[in-house]
Amino acid sequence: MATEETTLPTTENEWKVRLTPAEFRVLRQAGTEPAWSGEYVDTKTEGTYQCRACGADLYPSDTKFDSHCGWPSFDDTIPGSVKEIVDRSHGMERTEIRCARCDSHLGHVFRGEWMTDKNTRHCVNSLSIKLTPKA
Ligand SMILES: [Zn+2]
Repeated sequence: MATEETTLPTTENEWKVRLTPAEFRVLRQAGTEPAWSGEYVDTKTEGTYQCRACGADLYPSDTKFDSHCGWPSFDDTIPGSVKEIVDRSHGMERTEIRCARCDSHLGHVFRGEWMTDKNTRHCVNSLSIKLTPKA
């Protein structure tokens, strides 16, 4: 049976085939990569960050800033691309962020830190995103 590349997996087993084990753990099981381990922590390249699971555009590179927290951080998104869900795991109340298109885990969003004028920090796993550099 032919599968179009734009077709999203419908089961976790299908995701498992499409993603590496590390990507699967973060994107589909809400894992967190170790701080400072991700490939995009210090990236300054211009372009667009996309969901590594489905390819949806999520963050323009000009929303990325140095948060010194060990994960890529963004203070804005492409409108409608990221959804927020209250996460009460680990004895904390945090706001999880997921790709609005494929429901894959990206990281968490924090507000009230005033790291940038937008007062928002999307703390995203490098394993959840993929940078397409500007042509
Ligand atoms: Zn996605």
